[in-house]
Amino acid sequence: MPSFLDRLAPRPTGSQIELQAESIAVSIRWFGLVVGAVVANSAGADPLPLNIILLLGLAYTVLDTAFFLRGRVFLRDLPLGVSALEALFITLLCYFEHGLDSPFRFYYLLSLVCGAVRHPPRVPLITCGLNCLGYSTLLFFVPVAPNDWRVMAFTLVVLLWVTAAAVALARLLKRAAAELAAGKEQLETRIAERTQELEESQAQVLHQEKMAAFGLLAAGIAHEVGNPLTSISAVVQMLDRRDLDGYTREKLTLVTGQLARIQTILRELVTFSRPATHERGRVSAREVVDEALSIAKYYRGGKSRTITADVPADLPPLPGVRDQLVQVVFNLVLNAIDATGKGGRIDVTATANDGHVELAVADDGAGIPADVRPRLFRPYFTTKPHGTGLGLFVIRRIVEAHGGRVAVESAPGAGTTFRVTLPAAVPRADALGYDRRPLRGEDGELPFAAERPAAVAQGVSPGTQ
Ligand code: ADP
Repeated sequence: MPSFLDRLAPRPTGSQIELQAESIAVSIRWFGLVVGAVVANSAGADPLPLNIILLLGLAYTVLDTAFFLRGRVFLRDLPLGVSALEALFITLLCYFEHGLDSPFRFYYLLSLVCGAVRHPPRVPLITCGLNCLGYSTLLFFVPVAPNDWRVMAFTLVVLLWVTAAAVALARLLKRAAAELAAGKEQLETRIAERTQELEESQAQVLHQEKMAAFGLLAAGIAHEVGNPLTSISAVVQMLDRRDLDGYTREKLTLVTGQLARIQTILRELVTFSRPATHERGRVSAREVVDEALSIAKYYRGGKSRTITADVPADLPPLPGVRDQLVQVVFNLVLNAIDATGKGGRIDVTATANDGHVELAVADDGAGIPADVRPRLFRPYFTTKPHGTGLGLFVIRRIVEAHGGRVAVESAPGAGTTFRVTLPAAVPRADALGYDRRPLRGEDGELPFAAERPAAVAQGVSPGTQ
């Protein structure tokens, strides 16, 4: 419920325009008071009643000004009451100062202009009626000289004339202000859109740079480690050909096994860090998941989580850029590793449904609080001390560029599932509706699903490498 103060002097509901109109009205009032004081105290009439009326006017103007300076409009919701009060005051001023030809009769014009700049046309029109009525009642209370009829007729015509002009002018000004405000709003919206686009492309570039730097680093490490590894392998092979005792041979077999493991890791690093291609093709979901997991398992903490993959072999291929799709799964799995503790579980699954393939990455980690969820995909949004906040943003961009969508379900404390739904490649069918050609990829290779044995459940838990 509005307080007494809010009712007495409400804040403007419109734009700054309303306050600016009020500032014009306040200036007009002060001008009227100063000129009124001069007229009242220099004319032949008794100045006492005139000064009392002007003092009441002064009190009103002081209140009006004080509220205006606090961003409020005094008696804003009572415009007709204010008009009636002004009509009464001006009529009294005229009554005590010469009657029908009093210079105070011009104050009716000021009152009209104030009403027109501040209120809808209805208010100045009624104010004009009240002023005409007030002025006309003087006929009954003051002596009327023959010339007064002319003065009165002229004053009434001027009142009507000024009312029409002020209403038209105020309407024009208000329309211009509304158009300006609409233009400003449009401009602000466009600036906000452009700023967001700019921020997003900056974020994309930053992420690409980060991935390129990572690739360069990985390739460098692979190269630096690869050379000594080749020498060690050669020495081990040389030793292996010698006549060795049982103990040494057993240890050498162990070393050979570990060397092979390091070589696999390096191969995976090199595969992952090769320059990204933007070539579109028919991509196997299984291959995408395999590649993403092969590298994600080396991420900090990756080995102390149980990561499983269940990607059926007969999934339709995905039309798109392979490296980008790998990046999507890779980022989702890294986030899942971050969200889970030691011994946490991460399940990567893929299913085909209604012309789409859904890739889901589910974890039993910390979950996402409800207040964080709306901000997840914004660039630079992160809750991690060393996060970049670009992972999910880039994921959404890639997925949308592939005609898909990303959804997230999360229960704080119980885990999170990200679901990426991508359109599957249209089967190469002829007009009769069945495919006569062998199932081959864009490059003539058999699609991955046809090459490999059926679904693998890849357990990447400690010691499974
Ligand atoms: P970053 O990983 O650098 O923080 P992302 O865009 O990948 O950037 O993630 C943004 C935020 O989303 C993370 O900081 C985290 O708060 C939240 N988030 C993403 N994935 C998960 C998840 N699986 N579980 C809980 N929170 C997550």
